[in-house]
Amino acid sequence: MLIGVDDTDSPKGMCTTYLGAVLARRLIHNHMRVREARLVRLNPNVTFKTRGNAAIALDVEGDPEQAFSLACDIVEELADFSCENTNPGVVVTETHLDPAFYRQAVTDFCEIDEAVNLLETAGARFRGWKNWRGLIGATAAVASLFHDTTYEILTYRDPSRGGIKREVDRESLFAAEDSTYPHTWDTVDFANQVVVCVPHTPDPVLFGIRGESPSWIMIARSLIVSEKPVIEQIWVTNQGTDAHLLPGTCGSLREGRSYRVQGIVTIPPKTTIGGHVSFSICDNSTETRCMAYEPTKKFRNIVRELVPGDRIVAVGSYKKESVNLEKICLVSLARDIHVKAPVCSICSSRMTSAGKDKGFKCRKCGARSKDAEVTEIPRTICAGWYEVPPTARRHLAKPLCRGFPDTP
Ligand code: ATP
Repeated sequence: MLIGVDDTDSPKGMCTTYLGAVLARRLIHNHMRVREARLVRLNPNVTFKTRGNAAIALDVEGDPEQAFSLACDIVEELADFSCENTNPGVVVTETHLDPAFYRQAVTDFCEIDEAVNLLETAGARFRGWKNWRGLIGATAAVASLFHDTTYEILTYRDPSRGGIKREVDRESLFAAEDSTYPHTWDTVDFANQVVVCVPHTPDPVLFGIRGESPSWIMIARSLIVSEKPVIEQIWVTNQGTDAHLLPGTCGSLREGRSYRVQGIVTIPPKTTIGGHVSFSICDNSTETRCMAYEPTKKFRNIVRELVPGDRIVAVGSYKKESVNLEKICLVSLARDIHVKAPVCSICSSRMTSAGKDKGFKCRKCGARSKDAEVTEIPRTICAGWYEVPPTARRHLAKPLCRGFPDTP
């Protein structure tokens, strides 16, 4: 059977993955076999999410009725019902649900009724609390079919330690990344000298190590010095796989979905208030704004190098009519040519236009010139892929150390 759970936490505490790890141990204690624990990230643009829009699924051998009852009991025991936005859902299914529902939940939006219809048709056991929204994530988790897979070991502290500073040795985290990258990633951000894998939120996660295989994450984990976790769980995940991306074209982007979209830079990059950088691309005469926000740090320096005529692939979520960049591919570079009125060869002042197709005229001495001053600025950027740093990376975004996305 597959057991799915979602929406048990609140900004004040708890974490659905912790609840799932505790559930896995209770199932084992009740003589069931847990074959796999899956951490399923869903559409990162869903507004109801608490943090990273995660749901969990456990692949279990045992009595489904007992498993359903244990899962419901643990939700009643651990979920943070005090928060208005916490609406848990539990699903137990003995048949495979259509993975199209997962695809929709990771790339788009779903309705509670759609989840309920799917569950009823499949004859699944399910229970929703409050407005039942958690059934969307729980259903998507059990319907999930990953086209690519990564792993994360999450270590947890007792939830009662919520407000206490996490004791994780910083040097050991840098050493772990140094020894295991690129087989693990996003433990730290070397360029910005920031620890990434230790959360600052009041949930039970102590730290998490993401990587290509259970053995690589265990090597990294063994190097980390910290307070003693109460539980450690290896999750099979869709993190770092770009599962949220759809192919898109400038005119067809819809709010709250994430895309790979190819276009030619039309409006050059401009830094706006707050240090955010914006520019526009065009395909088939439709223009789309792209944004590199301040938290993307040095990635903005790459973006600032773009010039009109560059052909790029922009990758990111389409929100408030902009593609919020997660990465870009510079497919081909335009020449950075600047044309302006020439300097007068007689009096050395800058000439001005003498009118359309009439060349230039010196307003000081009256001299004329047919030719504009053309300068070419050498490009300092190369074709290829560029990505935001680990501190700004979304859970689902595939790091370039894992390979490059398809070009649309
Ligand atoms: P955490 O990461 O700590 O587990 P969270 O960020 O996963 O928290 P939730 O508390 O699970 O956030 O809230 C997300 C809510 O959005 C859930 O009720 C889930 O069922 C719902 N949801 C997830 N994906 C979609 C979607 N594509 N369309 C509509 N609702 C969704």
